[in-house]
Amino acid sequence: MPIQYNQKSMNVKEFRQYAHEIVDWMADFLENITDYPVKSQVLPREIYNRLPDLPPTKGEELPKIMDDFENIIMPGMTHWQSPNFHAYFPGNSSYPSVLAEMLTATLGAQCMMWDTSPAAAELEEKMMDWLKDMMALPNDWYGHIQDTASTATLCAILSARERYSDFNINKSGFTAEHRFRVYCSSETHSSIEKGVKIAGIGKENLVKIPVDNDQQIRPDLLKKAIVEDINEGYRPICVVAATGTTGTTAIDPLLPLVEICQMHNIWLHVDAAYAGTALLLPEYRWMVEGLAYADSFVFNPHKWMFTNFDCTAYFVKDKATLLNTFSILPEYLRTSTEGTINNYKDWGIPLGRRFRALKLWFVIRTYGKEGLQQRLREHIELAQWMEHQLLQHPKFEIIAKRTLNVVFFRYRPSHHLNDDLLNDLNQQLLKEINDSGRAYLTHTKVDGIFTIRMVIGQTYVQQHHVEATWELIQQLVA
Ligand code: PLP
Repeated sequence: MPIQYNQKSMNVKEFRQYAHEIVDWMADFLENITDYPVKSQVLPREIYNRLPDLPPTKGEELPKIMDDFENIIMPGMTHWQSPNFHAYFPGNSSYPSVLAEMLTATLGAQCMMWDTSPAAAELEEKMMDWLKDMMALPNDWYGHIQDTASTATLCAILSARERYSDFNINKSGFTAEHRFRVYCSSETHSSIEKGVKIAGIGKENLVKIPVDNDQQIRPDLLKKAIVEDINEGYRPICVVAATGTTGTTAIDPLLPLVEICQMHNIWLHVDAAYAGTALLLPEYRWMVEGLAYADSFVFNPHKWMFTNFDCTAYFVKDKATLLNTFSILPEYLRTSTEGTINNYKDWGIPLGRRFRALKLWFVIRTYGKEGLQQRLREHIELAQWMEHQLLQHPKFEIIAKRTLNVVFFRYRPSHHLNDDLLNDLNQQLLKEINDSGRAYLTHTKVDGIFTIRMVIGQTYVQQHHVEATWELIQQLVA
């Protein structure tokens, strides 16, 4: 008696038909995205409560699932691909990136090793070469793709830990002699603290160095802290420099950090998660003067480089330390190509890896280097335009220096209002902007000042979108 296979879920004929319909849905959505509120307006638990408590016992038809997707899920989505999205840092996609993601999903390959999909490993290597070329990164670095900047920074901290413990912590765990310290500025991203915690170094051993008026690390204070720690018996193992802090895109000066790290033999990791994309522009390479002397560097094409989340480019100088920290070879993963090719499972934490290089390839080929440069410059010009409007207006003030395409401002209707009142007023203004559904901005605090951040880096943003947001802000304060 032949086995009866369950053909109910979906067959290839239906798949073809639905795929066409869904691609039409996708194009309609992206074409009309400004019809949706940028920030989802739902209340906590609203979506959860609308979903059935139990899974279906029998399979359901796709049109019904799509109906629920439109009616239940879509209202709970915040639209990162809206040109009126000016919050956080962007999580951009683009048409070619979405198409590549469809292919990646269709291939469904698990690209942990060269043998499990040679093209994925070799395209990844080539894409890292292309990025090095386009961004003038040091030629002798080794790059690969990770999920997030947080993971890459954790890898840098773990590599430093292993280098300075002679790979003994991997082997035997921490002992009393391992009194390690890691340094960053008070403005660096929370992923550094998370990395230090996970690496077992202890968050008390992350030393946060004060910043100057431009929110950049004070190298003199870093040097002092390191010398004091050495005198007290600590081993400084890693300094994390921020090229573009999350709060205000401040740029830590690399050259003095290089000098300090070289003097004390410390791993220098550069977190350029957002601003790194600007290295495509020769006029912004001043941001990383001295980069060739760093040990590792991370940036996210999934932020400003039009490539769907997740896609993080991580580069290291010392490949041997990276591999010694992460590689592991159980019998069931042994292959005859071992040693002659790159098995990227050995370059980081997870074993399993998505085929992320494909979307980067599609993006870089579709835009071309010049197309990417042009779009970045357009974003920076739009931010300059916005900054100009704010500077011209008597009731707004710029709170932090604009380096790239992010402006930092607050509403200040009168010079007689104290900072507490202004903080409340600006918090209220931000809420009203976001509740309107017409734009989405977020905030930071700069020296205690509630500061509205407007990032102008969305893939589809144009001058008229920025003008409309500026108009909205003025209407709300009026
Ligand atoms: N570093 C900086 C400077 C960031 O701004 C961010 C996120 O915005 C991160 C690290 C973390 O990025 P990811 O979400 O890729 O871990």
